[in-house]
Amino acid sequence: MTAHSLGVEIACDGPDLISDCPASAAVAARFGSLTAVQVRADGREDGWTRRRRGSRHVDLCPSCTPTDPTRKARP
Ligand SMILES: [Zn+2]
Repeated sequence: MTAHSLGVEIACDGPDLISDCPASAAVAARFGSLTAVQVRADGREDGWTRRRRGSRHVDLCPSCTPTDPTRKARP
């Protein structure tokens, strides 16, 4: 444990298998968010989603998240 720990970084996996995130986005974790679970919770507040892609899960930033008709558009 160091005093300069940045915790976990959740980075966007990109819109599809062969593409990297155009924005190289990563979740901006709130102060005190140290675990992946906490950081993902922060990301969800900003519109991040976690999806299954084949056998693994990917994290997607708002701009890479496919439009979901069940989710209301954000202002
Ligand atoms: Zn992205």
